[in-house]
Amino acid sequence: MLRKRQPIFAANWKMYKTIQETRAFFASFFGALSEYADRKTVIAPPFTALAAAREEIGAFKRQDVSIAAQNVFFEEQGAYTGEVSLPMLQELGVEFVILGHSERRHIFGETDMGVAFKVRAVCEAGLCPILCVGERLSEREAERTNMVIGIQLAAALAALPENALHGLIIAYEPVWAIGTGKVASAEQIAQVHAFIRSWFAVHFNSALAENIRILYGGSVKLNNAAQIMGIADVDGLLVGGASLDAGEFVKIVSCEI
Ligand code: PEP
Repeated sequence: MLRKRQPIFAANWKMYKTIQETRAFFASFFGALSEYADRKTVIAPPFTALAAAREEIGAFKRQDVSIAAQNVFFEEQGAYTGEVSLPMLQELGVEFVILGHSERRHIFGETDMGVAFKVRAVCEAGLCPILCVGERLSEREAERTNMVIGIQLAAALAALPENALHGLIIAYEPVWAIGTGKVASAEQIAQVHAFIRSWFAVHFNSALAENIRILYGGSVKLNNAAQIMGIADVDGLLVGGASLDAGEFVKIVSCEI
């Protein structure tokens, strides 16, 4: 059955893989992955490996696979030591940018306001933001999950008109499930994804809410990918650790949807 929203399988490599390791990954990945028309694969290597990833995808002529950056700064250029801009990413053929990942929020102190500037800049540049939202364990235990996510969405999308949100993707990533081996239950995922979709219906409109893709991330592995993809309102997966192994990620991308 064809889904109404094309699923996305996104790989967040974090600070793993050199250029050489990136090339080796793609050789095995493309050696085993069928070219699917009904799903999209997005790989987010570190900045230093983006060009190599782009070259490999081009060499294998794969339209079904795109590259993403794991972050960006919102200014086009300037005295911002250590930062990378959107024109720099566009020059490398980057189409997606992960924003507001919990590691950026909690390790590097990224704020909701900083994320909002970035979402705006990415949308204006015509790239697709993958905006990460999610609650900490203490927030879930205090039954504040919806509130936290509502605040993150409102802050990140503040002052953006609906027509700027074309291409926006949301990734629901409970902080307590990232890299921990703990996966949110099917009920928890279904509830939060439905909440996010209804948030867009209330704050924008029902057409946008129906079209927006909402990915789940947090300890996705081969043994749970298909089950999570079967949950209502799940339009794809954002995979960290399990995406580093080409063989395992091929199987995740190839899961029954
Ligand atoms: C992530 O980094 O976005 C993530 C979900 O990591 P993991 O799959 O390793 O939990």
